[in-house]
Amino acid sequence: MMICPFCGKEMQKGILSGDGRSGVSWKQGERKAGLLDRIVGEGKVTAAKGSLVAFTIESYFCPGCRKMIFDTDITK
Ligand SMILES: [Zn+2]
Repeated sequence: MMICPFCGKEMQKGILSGDGRSGVSWKQGERKAGLLDRIVGEGKVTAAKGSLVAFTIESYFCPGCRKMIFDTDITK
C-alpha cells in the first residue's frame, strides 16, 4: 500500500502503458489498459505529450490530487 505524500490518502496501484499509437493509459490493478479501455476512452493520461514507443510502468495514482508515483533509476 502506498500513501500519497501530498494529501495522505491511499493511492491506487496500477499500470501506466502506451503503444505509440493511442496515447498513454493507466489502469488500476496488475494489467495494462486493453483495447476495450481505449475504445471507450477510459484511463487516458492527459499529462502525456507527443508519441511514445511501447512501454509499461508499474505506478501509483492518487485520484485526490491527480498525481502519479513510480520507482525508477536513471542509467548512466
Ligand atoms: Zn494525493
